[in-house]
Amino acid sequence: MNANANANFNTLYAQQVNERRVINGQDDVVQLYPIVHQFAWDAYMAGNANHWLPNEISMQKDIEQWRSSTALTDDERHVVKLALGFFTTADSIVANNLVLCCYKHVTSPECRLYLLRQAYEEAIHTHAYQYIVESLGLNEAEIFSMYKRIDAIYDKDNFVTELVQQILDPDFKTGTFENDQLFLENLIDFYVIMEGVFFYASFAAMLSFRRRNLLPGTAEQFQYIMRDESMHMNFGIDMINQIKREQPELWTDIFQKRITNKIARAAALEEAYAHELMPRGILGLNADSFKDYTQYVADRRLVGLGLPVKFGSQNPFPWMSEMIDLTKSKNFFETRVTEYQTGGALEWDEDF
Ligand code: FE
Repeated sequence: MNANANANFNTLYAQQVNERRVINGQDDVVQLYPIVHQFAWDAYMAGNANHWLPNEISMQKDIEQWRSSTALTDDERHVVKLALGFFTTADSIVANNLVLCCYKHVTSPECRLYLLRQAYEEAIHTHAYQYIVESLGLNEAEIFSMYKRIDAIYDKDNFVTELVQQILDPDFKTGTFENDQLFLENLIDFYVIMEGVFFYASFAAMLSFRRRNLLPGTAEQFQYIMRDESMHMNFGIDMINQIKREQPELWTDIFQKRITNKIARAAALEEAYAHELMPRGILGLNADSFKDYTQYVADRRLVGLGLPVKFGSQNPFPWMSEMIDLTKSKNFFETRVTEYQTGGALEWDEDF
């Protein structure tokens, strides 16, 4: 290449950097370089390092405990079934939104790359629930259709899918103030509310089994899922904050109030779900402490978006942050370790 061609090439490359946006960016969505949204590449690499598959985890002890008449109480069995009833469809709802609403309108190739990784992880999670339901011999028809029958689950699903139909409209395009705000709100509905608030009462309940060495195979899968979901949420918050930087006009005072109120309403729905999950509390968890927990989680999400806290609640379950440290808890519980990662640390922001 002669010097002139090189100079032209570099000018073009610099121009491409300037045109790269999460939404409303360049037309060329297939050329990975120049990477501008480094957080997306980093999330993609971290996702690969955390790869796992459900059927590599033994369910033998879980099956014995589930069949035993003394290992688990009726209330504990209810928690497992209801949490699975929520999750069996929740990850599919998230995956559908990613593939059908989100991917099409994201113009950053590196963000799109992570969306593909995330979509696969949602499939792995649905696979994990199927594996647990099948291993324990639960009634598939009852569990997989629960989202239609239990109001506390239906209300959460309905809450986050509010904007989906408008974005699925074939005529929907980003590029206007109204549509860009709509798209941004949909990202908040899924990354912050669904994956960041609506998963956490169930995570706390399911991981509380692990603390008593009950259902170790199920709990181990939930640990992996929580780690993945925490990364999905952090990626989503990075992407949302990047859109705010690229199009600050979208982040109006009215929009900020709307989002704050929405996250507060989500916390109330999650609290109602937690009561449905544990009307009398389980494994030493007080049902009322879930109010503080969901409010604490909601506050953390608001801070992630750069908004002031709403509740000021303390975390009643500080042990949840230890649950994310898989190496420590695996050694403690002496379960089989499935590590695809050969080196380096599994690091992510603490979100619990
Ligand atoms: Fe997810």
